[in-house]
Amino acid sequence: MQNIRQKIEEVKTKIEKAAARSGRDPSAIELVAVSKTKGPELIREAYDAGLKVFGENYAQEIKEKASALSDLEINWHFVGHLQKNKAKVVAPIASCIETVDSIELADMIDKRAVKPLNCMIEVNLGGEESKSGVLTDQILPIANHISTLRNLELVGLMIIPPYDPNPESGRPYFKKLGLLLDELNVSLKRDNPLTELSMGMSHDFEVAIEEGATIIRVGTAIFGERQ
Ligand SMILES: *Cc1c(COP(=O)(O)O)cnc(C)c1O
Repeated sequence: MQNIRQKIEEVKTKIEKAAARSGRDPSAIELVAVSKTKGPELIREAYDAGLKVFGENYAQEIKEKASALSDLEINWHFVGHLQKNKAKVVAPIASCIETVDSIELADMIDKRAVKPLNCMIEVNLGGEESKSGVLTDQILPIANHISTLRNLELVGLMIIPPYDPNPESGRPYFKKLGLLLDELNVSLKRDNPLTELSMGMSHDFEVAIEEGATIIRVGTAIFGERQ
């Protein structure tokens, strides 16, 4: 069986190749290791192999792991659907909450943050009822609201396209998210435009990189299958 270190090297090689294909600088692509369901020992192993950013999608889980690994300098990204009443658990731990999907949630996170905290708006482009994330017409109102908040800093957009094992099926969603970020920047007229596009998982991160991903969220390809 391959160890975590080898798997990370493989993922990094794929990142470099996808970046080269699209004329991008691989160091501009941040790898978030999605460690949900995996224990602190495995996270420690990945950390020792050089990863510093980890993703979790349940409030209780991120809390337990952050506490068990408090001796490490980990940046935690929250990538799951966040219930408003769990903002108080996650806001003090995370360095980025990628899944803001309402003004009310943004308010709750802002109130509970103990330091400046990055966030992204999760977009639902598939229009899937069961999925979280906002429809495109909600992006600007939420972005405008976040810019009035004291602790919360919007850095970009995030998407989880409808699952399809064929990585190419994600491409139109990734392309569209890039266009939405461009449109948002035109509307916001900020001095520093938003730059982050969080898109791509184990099976489709190379396509996402070709379409401009700056953050990829990779679980299985690093830690193996989840139970
Ligand atoms: C689980 C998860 C991932 C990682 O998925 P893999 O297919 O294991 O790479 C990425 N993003 C989110 C939001 C997730 O919940």
